[in-house]
Amino acid sequence: MAADGEDYPRTLAELERRFSSEEACRAYLGQLRWPDGFRCPACGADHGWPTGRGDLIECSRCHHQTSVIAGTIFEGTRKPLPMWFRAMWLVTSEKNGVSALGLQRQLGIGSYETAWAWLHKLRRVWSGSAGTDCTAWWRWTRPSWAAWSPGCGAGRRPRSPW
Ligand SMILES: [Zn+2]
Repeated sequence: MAADGEDYPRTLAELERRFSSEEACRAYLGQLRWPDGFRCPACGADHGWPTGRGDLIECSRCHHQTSVIAGTIFEGTRKPLPMWFRAMWLVTSEKNGVSALGLQRQLGIGSYETAWAWLHKLRRVWSGSAGTDCTAWWRWTRPSWAAWSPGCGAGRRPRSPW
């Protein structure tokens, strides 16, 4: 399952098959974030409902609104998640690390500056050793999600699967 870090794509083909849509990416991130179902990051309640605005979920107890990507490196992005997933694959699977130019070319990103910004964002998150093992693949979500608690409601740290 996702929570133990074992559920990750092994090959580029698998990555593309599994994460070809925004929905598939969000479902995967949702599993990582809430392996036992939704949990409000502000009050810890385990029930919320969709607000109908984007993928925002509102807590049924404290009305805090959150989403599966709130507080992660994906928050506020205007690029599709499948593109991010591919970028993460490239950053974590190439032995000597992908260059900004390589990222730009392989993803079809419009500007070099954007590619460079992505690369550095991802590198900051992913600070482990290079390689395609499962640790390398799933570590990118962990530091960003672990850091997502400040400013959440009552100051209570959200329950983290890690
Ligand atoms: Zn709540």
